[in-house]
Amino acid sequence: MARLVRELHLPCVTGPHAVPEGRSAVVVGGGLAGVAAATVLAERGVDVTLVEREGFMGGRAGAWSERLSSGESFEMERGFHAFFRQYYNLRALLRRIDPELELLVPLEDYPILGPDGEVQSFRDLPRRTPFNVMSLTARSPALGLADLLRVNGRRALEMLTYDAGRTYGRRDHMSAGEYLDSLRFPPRARRLLFDVFSHSFFNPEREMSAGELLMMFHFYFTGNPEGLVFDVARRPFSRSIWEPFERYLEDLRVTMRMGESARAIERVGEGGWRVRTDEGRVEADSVVLAVTVPALQDLVAESPDLGEPEWRHRIESLELTNPFAVWRLWLDRPTERGRAPFVGTTGLGPIDNISLYHLFEDESRQWYERHGGAIVELHAYAVATGTDDEQLKIQLLGALHALYPETRNSRILEQRYLVRQDCPAFAPGSYASRPPVETPFDGVTVAGDFVKLPIPSALMERAVASGFLAANYLLARDRVLSEPIRSIPPRGLLAGVPS
Ligand SMILES: Cc1cc2nc3c(=O)[nH]c(=O)nc-3n(C[C@H](O)[C@H](O)[C@H](O)COP(=O)(O)OP(=O)(O)OC[C@H]3O[C@@H](n4cnc5c(N)ncnc54)[C@H](O)[C@@H]3O)c2cc1C
Repeated sequence: MARLVRELHLPCVTGPHAVPEGRSAVVVGGGLAGVAAATVLAERGVDVTLVEREGFMGGRAGAWSERLSSGESFEMERGFHAFFRQYYNLRALLRRIDPELELLVPLEDYPILGPDGEVQSFRDLPRRTPFNVMSLTARSPALGLADLLRVNGRRALEMLTYDAGRTYGRRDHMSAGEYLDSLRFPPRARRLLFDVFSHSFFNPEREMSAGELLMMFHFYFTGNPEGLVFDVARRPFSRSIWEPFERYLEDLRVTMRMGESARAIERVGEGGWRVRTDEGRVEADSVVLAVTVPALQDLVAESPDLGEPEWRHRIESLELTNPFAVWRLWLDRPTERGRAPFVGTTGLGPIDNISLYHLFEDESRQWYERHGGAIVELHAYAVATGTDDEQLKIQLLGALHALYPETRNSRILEQRYLVRQDCPAFAPGSYASRPPVETPFDGVTVAGDFVKLPIPSALMERAVASGFLAANYLLARDRVLSEPIRSIPPRGLLAGVPS
C-alpha cells in the first residue's frame, strides 16, 4: 500500500473492538456494499442476517453457473471488472478471504484502440502527478505542441485542483461533455484520452456531472498514487470471491437468506426495526440498506416509518443511467498472438472495450486448451434507450472485426448476451441531493456505489467504502472502534492554488 494512503476513522470512535452481546443487524443486499457491511458488523460481534434477492452473491459483481451446449459448465458474470490498485477498501475486504490477494493478477497495460490503427498506451506511466500527466500528454499520438497551445489550460488545471467542496460547487451543474468540450483538445485526442474514461462510469457524458468526472480524474489518475495499471480476477468471481465469502460469513455466524426480497422496513419496540420480505420477516436493532437504486426507492416507498420528507426526496431523486450490454462469444479460432487481454476502444461506434478471457481467466483458458479458439467479451456502456439488440450486435461485431481482423472468419460457437439497466446516474446537479450513508433514522444506514461519500471513490471501491461506513455508523451507537476507511489524498496536488 502506498505511503500516501490515508486511514480515516469515520465516525471517529476509539472504543472497544466488539459490541455488547445480543446486538443484531439486518443487511439487505448481498453485493459488495452489503457484504462489506455484513463483514465488519459480524467481525465486531453483531448477530447479522443478510437478505439477498438473487440466488447468488455479489450483485453486479456476481457470477452464476451456466452450461454450454457441449454440456460443459461455466460461470457467467455481468462482465469484465478492473480491480485498481487504489481500491484500498475493496482490497482490505478481499484480504479477509485471501490475505495475499492471490485471486488478482496484474494487467500491464490496457491500450485504447481507435480507428485506423490509433493506439494510446498507459504502460509504464510515472505514478506521480504532474509527471504522469506530462508523460501521457507527451506520448499521445494525437497531441502536438500546437494542439497543446490551444488547450484551455485554466480548465485543464481543474483536474489537478480537485477539492470536493469547490469542484462540485463549481462544476456539478455542468455536464461532463461540456467540460471536455471546453478543454479544446483536438477531437482525436479528446476521443483517445477521455471518451473511454468518461464512458467507464456507464453514464453518457452529456448526462453526467462534470464535478463527478473531475472527482473520477482525481481518483483514477491525478490524485492516484498507485498508477493507472489494474488487476483482474484470475478465476470467476463465484469461485474466487463469493464462495470464500459465504464460508467466511458463515464462520462468523451470519444467517444468509438467499433468494429472498426485502419489501419494507418498519419500527418495532424500543428502537428496533423489522424487515418484511416476500417470505417472512426479520427483526434487529439496526438495518443496512445496500440494494440497487430502484429497489431502495421501492423499499422506502413501502416504509412509512422512514418518514422524513427531505431524506425521502433525496432517495426519490436518485436515477439509473442508460443500459449497458455485455456480449460474451466463444469463437472457433484463436486471436492473434500478442493481443492485449483487455483494451478500451474509441471512435468505433457503441463498443467500449474488448476482453480476451482465455488470456487471463483460468476457466476460459481451460476451455481454450480443450478446444482452441477464443473467448471474447464485448461491452457497450451508456447504450441509448430503445437501441435494437440485433443492430447493436452487428455494430459490436463489426468493431471486433475491424480491430482484430483474424476474427472475421471465426464462427461463433456459443454466446451470452446481457442487457441490464441498474447502474446509478450521476446527472448534472445531483450532488447536493445525493444521500449519504447516514439517515435521519437511528439504526438505519444506506450503502452502495451511488451514495455520497466523504472521500474520492468510485464503482466497486465506492460500494465497499460505503458498506464499511454504514457498519461504522451502527457500531458507533455502542462506541465500538470503527473499521478504518482508506483513501487516496482527498484533495488534488494543486488544490490550494486559486483558479
Ligand atoms: C458490466 C459492468 C462492468 C463493471 N466494471 C467495473 C470495473 O471494471 N471496475 C469497477 O470498479 N466497477 C465496475 N463495475 C461496477 C461494479 O460492479 C459496481 O459498482 C458494484 O458491484 C456495485 O456494488 P453494490 O453493492 O453497490 O450494488 P449491487 O452489486 O447492485 O448490489 C445490490 C444487491 O442488492 C440486491 N437486492 C436488490 N433488491 C433487493 C431486495 N429488495 N431485497 C434483497 N436484496 C436486494 C441485488 O440482488 C444485489 O445483489 C461494473 C459494473 C458492470 C455492470
